Amino acid sequence: MQIVRASHNGDIRHGMMSEGQVVFYLGDPILGAELGEESAPLSSVKLLAPVTPGKVVCIGMNYRAHAAEISIDVPDEPLIFFKPISAIIGPEDAIVLPRQSDQVELEVELAIVIGKHAKEVSYDEAKNHIFGFTIGNDVTARDLQFSDTQWARSKGFDTFCPLGPWIETELDTNSLKLESRINGHSRQRSKSSDMITDVYEIVSYVSRNLTLFPGDVILTGSPAGLARIETGDQVECEITGIGVLHNPVSWR
Ligand code: MG
Repeated sequence: MQIVRASHNGDIRHGMMSEGQVVFYLGDPILGAELGEESAPLSSVKLLAPVTPGKVVCIGMNYRAHAAEISIDVPDEPLIFFKPISAIIGPEDAIVLPRQSDQVELEVELAIVIGKHAKEVSYDEAKNHIFGFTIGNDVTARDLQFSDTQWARSKGFDTFCPLGPWIETELDTNSLKLESRINGHSRQRSKSSDMITDVYEIVSYVSRNLTLFPGDVILTGSPAGLARIETGDQVECEITGIGVLHNPVSWR
């Protein structure tokens, strides 16, 4: 199932995609809401970030080739950091380049959407705590990532967390292809099987360190391919089985 969050006639609604239509839920399906009877053509709604998390947890250095290209050692355990929820934007929203950075780059990442409260869950239990998957772009001010001693600013500017276009609830995460493109040119190309820590171990590991709530999002790390984005660029992040997340780039 593909679950969207969308603006329709002034209301923000959750819906399920079905043959070009959005069938609306009676509330938030992540919290258990059921489908209603209303629907609207997909072309008549504006898609928003498909989830409104309480927190966005990110995993750093989860692909060896990316760690190598930015000269950071692969950590012994998964590296956790956060993006603020103020950074979240949806499909087609503009990534705004901040004046503080001269080197903003994209990072296509598989995003896990948590469906059920998760505290100290095992690898085998992790699947039951996942609602689905979407696409995230861990937009990063690379120059500030290196000049600041931690990454809150470099990864936390407004608009630096595009999410979407929808949540896919049924996905085999073992053999996904990830690709990012700038103006149609491929910049990152990898597969989920190159991850050092897989999605279930990520959920288990994070839940052993902090509690995850329904709707929380985990970005699972970026593959290699440093790619700077500039004003006027068209950015696409694609993951097979989910879709394409498109965002234009604009200047503050
Ligand atoms: Mg990243």
